[in-house]
Amino acid sequence: MKIKFLGGAEEVGRLAIKIENKDTRVMVDYGVIPEKPPLYPMPPEPVDGLFLTHSHLDHAGSLPIYYHSKQARFYATMMTANSIRPLLNDSLKIAALEGYPEVFNSTDVDQLYESLVPVRYGEEVEEGNFSVVPYSAGHIPGSTMWQFNNSRSTLVTGDLNTEQSNLLDGAVPVKSDVLVIESTYAGKNHEPREQVIKRLRKRVREVVESGGKVIFPTFAVGRTQELAMILADLDLNIATDGMGNGITDIYMHTPGYLRSYKDFKRAIHQTRRIRGNGMRSHALENDVIITTSGMMDGGPVLGYVDKLLTDEKSAIFLTGYQVENTNGRSLMENGTLKIAGNTVKPLMQKEFFDLSAHAGHDSLVKFVRGVSPETVILCHGEQRENLLSDLAEFEVILPMNGQEFEVK
Ligand SMILES: [Zn+2]
Ligand SMILES: [Zn+2]
Repeated sequence: MKIKFLGGAEEVGRLAIKIENKDTRVMVDYGVIPEKPPLYPMPPEPVDGLFLTHSHLDHAGSLPIYYHSKQARFYATMMTANSIRPLLNDSLKIAALEGYPEVFNSTDVDQLYESLVPVRYGEEVEEGNFSVVPYSAGHIPGSTMWQFNNSRSTLVTGDLNTEQSNLLDGAVPVKSDVLVIESTYAGKNHEPREQVIKRLRKRVREVVESGGKVIFPTFAVGRTQELAMILADLDLNIATDGMGNGITDIYMHTPGYLRSYKDFKRAIHQTRRIRGNGMRSHALENDVIITTSGMMDGGPVLGYVDKLLTDEKSAIFLTGYQVENTNGRSLMENGTLKIAGNTVKPLMQKEFFDLSAHAGHDSLVKFVRGVSPETVILCHGEQRENLLSDLAEFEVILPMNGQEFEVK
């Protein structure tokens, strides 16, 4: 079996893994690094099937490129397929607005959906000489680990979370001969989740009681909905704005993926959805606003922060990984942001709460031991070598983008 990363090997972003066995070739993910302008994986190589792990852009953002010239069957859970569509359309809009070279168009997005083969967890599908089984990756609703089986079994995790969250149960290891696993948090462990949530709820209450507003910059997919659940029953006015609202509707109407649909629905019914500029101008009458974008490079969040710039009682609470060269990272490191081309220094309180949906170091090691493979291939990480000493009993490969290698 041959494996080649077209992106995402030694970096967090633009994951693209080509797996070849005799005459069957498949690709897992074909993502993007959503910088300005975006960074794409290496050009598409012909494959028979594309298997998508989940709907975050660093895994799915370049998929339509495949349908510009190449064709392949497109395998995903319904939840993943439904969630990615608004994000791809938004990428098209941004590219047109910013004048980036067009790498795919709306016809390619349509083609992608015409090639869709929807899958369910635990149900096998055949692609050439692979029989392929999808399992939950615990990362966001619909996220999938793919197991490719022939004489050997290869498990590809995509982004992985083994802990229970408000939305999902954690992923469970599946015995396999070869494991391709993400390593975003190699060398780092997370603060216990219940502790983070307790502190978060307490701080939100304090800010609001002192007369301030709390702004949560968040990903549309997963985090918006999870925060609504975390903040439920605080008896506050919580508003959600931006693309997360559309994703919430998709979660509502795509059954079978949430740990408790009832709890989810109850939390969402306690929030107010901001739609259009009319509502937006009154949105700060609420106590809390959850809105895109998660790394503060666009979306309604900048408008809200702009209005609150000098309000020391108000706060910006970040809850996700902030990639280098983003507004979010700059806010954490220097306290500054760029809004409409101007650098500003908000006087608002700033705090980070680690609600990561990625397994921490010890959980990654435990997961690898549970899968008990002969070979471990580490990807989607900037500090992969931090895992080597804890994985000494396995053959471990640290591939680089563009390098093809053989796995027995
Ligand atoms: Zn992800
Ligand atoms: Zn990722």
